[in-house]
Formats: sequence, structure tokens, C-alpha cells
Amino acid sequence: MIASTDFERRTLALEYAFGIARGTQTETDAVTVHIEDDEGHVGIGAATPSSHYGETAATVEAVLPDLLAVVEDVGDPHHLERIERRMRETVHRNPAARVAVSIALHDLVAKRLEVPLYRYWGLDPTNTVETSYTIGLDDLETMREKTADALERGHGTLKIKLGTDRDIEIIEAIRDVAPDVRLYADANEAWTPREAVTRIERLAAFDLEFIEQPVPAANPDGLQFVYERAALPVAADESCLTLADVPQVADRCDIVNLKLMKCGSLREAMRMIHTARAHGLEVMCGCMTESHASIAAACHLAPLLDYADLDGPLLLAEDPYAGVPMPDGRIDLAGLERAGTGARLE
Ligand SMILES: [Mg+2]
Repeated sequence: MIASTDFERRTLALEYAFGIARGTQTETDAVTVHIEDDEGHVGIGAATPSSHYGETAATVEAVLPDLLAVVEDVGDPHHLERIERRMRETVHRNPAARVAVSIALHDLVAKRLEVPLYRYWGLDPTNTVETSYTIGLDDLETMREKTADALERGHGTLKIKLGTDRDIEIIEAIRDVAPDVRLYADANEAWTPREAVTRIERLAAFDLEFIEQPVPAANPDGLQFVYERAALPVAADESCLTLADVPQVADRCDIVNLKLMKCGSLREAMRMIHTARAHGLEVMCGCMTESHASIAAACHLAPLLDYADLDGPLLLAEDPYAGVPMPDGRIDLAGLERAGTGARLE
């Protein structure tokens, strides 16, 4: 049974200023949730809210007492479905706040059963993927340096932020430094549909795997226009937040990029993956600039993914938490020697 719950806010500095088409950040706010049972097991989860989706650390802190009251009222942490449904009924939006509790509960349940979360889910830890490492927008020279750094650290897959008037120059510079890596690109809604089609045509010459969110989420017809004409596969991120969005984007993209902070629960993430598969879509799991306190949980979905962009902890100056090991970017679930998600305060 649940014995106690609490939460605390931390501000984490990023290693580099992180630029995307919408703006640049140098730090990230995380609210960590702890849920303890009467045997002394403590489940850890965290919210890293995104103001783009209307959440801040303050809104997370404002709704967490109501969410944790649901957990304490149900009492048995194994009632995950019931707790998550009641949390959704209590706080309709606020997905980052809800997922912090969802992660902490899954961590707790797996710790009680003394298995890593992937094993609780019945997944094969050796069937894993490599996370991409994201190169944020900056001046060309800095982007080249960051790319060289990433190669030196062993990363073989990079995600390049685009959505500027110098996108082709950026990709040229990156390819110059990193001729052999797998490259993804993310425009974060910055292009018009027509601009997207011509730009993707030129970008395709640089051997990119896919282009993420070329046009604004508010323009679903524009996404379809691009999808039908694009020279590269198209991934939907800002256009696909929750389960209900998967059928909506199914004929408008090739890949859905789900994120725990958008969908609000690990169970919802699982439902999204299966629904995407039913629609013939490929699946990627992305993240915000998060620490291992939440990324560790997302790593356990790796055996179900085609692509992972779970580099949040790698973008922090220092992560107070340890999680699933990621040697050279490979999500090494089999190398995790702890029960639960593996998140642990160092
Ligand atoms: Mg994205």
C-alpha cells in the first residue's frame, strides 16, 4: 500500500544553449515525484513541462497535490489503470504532471516485483535502439563544433534542428563534419507547406532518414500536402500529442514521435505505439530536455520503437539522476542492473 508521496522542483542547467525554430533555452525545470510504499520502496518520476503545450513547473506543482491524492485514495499502486483513469478525470490536461506520477507508480510497482520495468512489460531488452543526439540551432561554426563533439562521444545518430533561412547551409556543414552518421532533421513547424516540399527536395540530397514536423500542427491539411509530395519520410511531433491524434495523422505522416510529456502516461504511450502500428506507422519516442528521472522510463519502451530521441540527459550540464546506460547512444536495457526504471539520485 502507498505510505507517502511528495514532490520537489529543480532547475537543471543545459550543457549548451539549446536552440529550436521557436526559441532558445539554457535551463530546464523539472518536478520530481516520489511515491513510497509501506515496505520502503520508493518510485521516482518527473515532469519536465513544456510551455508550448501550456504547462510550467508552477502548473505542475499546482495540480500534483490533486493527482497524488488520487494515488493515496486508491492505495494499491498495482491498480495502474484505475489510478491513471481517475487522474485523467481529475486533471484533464496537464500531461507532464500526470506522467510524473505514472512513471513513479510504474517504477514503484516494478521495484516491488524486483524486476526492471521492461521485464514487467514482457519486452526483450536486447531488441533495442540507439538514441539520436540533438544538435540545436546556433551559428554554423558552433553547430559544426557540437557535431564534432558528438562524434567524439561516440554518437552515430544525430538529429539536426532546422527551421531557419539557412537550413541547407546547416545540413551542408553538418554533413561536412559527419559524412557517415545517420541524420534526422526537425523543423519544429517552421515552414509553409510549399516551402517544406522544396526544402525537403534539397535536403534529401544529404541522405537524411526523415524530416520531423515540417509545418505547423494547426495546419493538418498542410501536413498532408507535404506528406504526399515530400522526398523524405515525414514524422509528426507537435501534430501528435495523445492517442486520439494517432488516427488523425495516420494519412498525413510516416512516423509518429510520441513523448511522455505530451501523452501523460506510460500506459497511454503503449496504447499510442500499438495504435500507430495498426495504422502502418513507424514509431519514435522523443523527449523534452529531461533528466534520467523521466527518461529512464521512456528507455524501457525501446524494444517497441523504430527510432529513439531520448537524449534529454545528454543535453544537461549535469544530471543529478542516473538511469538506463546509453553507451555511444545505444539504449542498453540489458545492462541495467536495477529494478524499476533504473532512475536513481546520484
Ligand atoms: Mg520534434
